[in-house]
Amino acid sequence: MSSYVVALDVGGTSMKGGLVSENGQVLVTDRRPTLRGDEAVGAVREFVSDLAARGDGPPAGVGLAVPGLVTADSAIYAANIGWRDVPARSFVDMDVPVMLGHDVRTGGLAESVLGAGRGISDFLFLPIGTGIAGAMILSGRPYGGAEGWGGEIGHIPVFPDGEPCACGQLGCLETYASAASVGRRYSERSGIAGVKAEEVVASDDPLAIEVWDEAVEALSLALATYTLLLDPSVIVLGGGLAEAGPALFDPVRTRLVKRLAFREAPPLVAAALGVNAGMLGAALLGWRAAGVPGAGTGWTMDVRSAPAVS
Ligand SMILES: [Zn+2]
Repeated sequence: MSSYVVALDVGGTSMKGGLVSENGQVLVTDRRPTLRGDEAVGAVREFVSDLAARGDGPPAGVGLAVPGLVTADSAIYAANIGWRDVPARSFVDMDVPVMLGHDVRTGGLAESVLGAGRGISDFLFLPIGTGIAGAMILSGRPYGGAEGWGGEIGHIPVFPDGEPCACGQLGCLETYASAASVGRRYSERSGIAGVKAEEVVASDDPLAIEVWDEAVEALSLALATYTLLLDPSVIVLGGGLAEAGPALFDPVRTRLVKRLAFREAPPLVAAALGVNAGMLGAALLGWRAAGVPGAGTGWTMDVRSAPAVS
């Protein structure tokens, strides 16, 4: 009897993989670049096989977190990778059960079962990185909406007639508050190229303060909207920008409280699983595929000592 699953988080630039036992032990971690176009599916399949070869016999199941539009058994479309209508089976060349999940919602599942959202039935998981997308956990489950487009909080138009977004809309949250946008907007104003978001956050240059203030304003507007719509118990912020700690949490919290008049603001807390969230969520999917839906209960993830796959 196999005692592990293969878990793979297919990101825009890299794939983070691991073998995870039924009691939550991360046995192996590894990382490879994400390939695009015709090579993409084959590269996932090869990575899954190579990870499985490091296990003790065939895996009990395989869980994959993938970007774009996705159902449990098909990767429908991902613009940044370039695949269309790929059945889950195509990612695995073994006869084992496979389950797919949306990348951000799978990270949200992991935070829900193992991390900052443990024991909380309604919360928002919002990783802020190169882009911004959210996992809405409603009544204990990640919610993707009617067609899988749910949670695109990064494209809430926070400023009417604001700056154009790559998505084609105007004034999207992501255009102001993603790590990439904070760096880009400061560079545009200061003429200094290649400045990272964390440098903008730490800087006392008035232009940096202005750019960061606009990012905070955009975030607090979007979070007020989410709070009024869905009444989360907690908002879990993750991704690279959440590493800014109090420089992000304190001003966003203050403005969120100010914006909401007739109700309390939900607490803002930091994500617990860091870069491992997607891979650990994929492990939960792998165990669900293997017929162990309760996997994850009782797992204690010591994230600081867990082998990072960043
Ligand atoms: Zn947009």
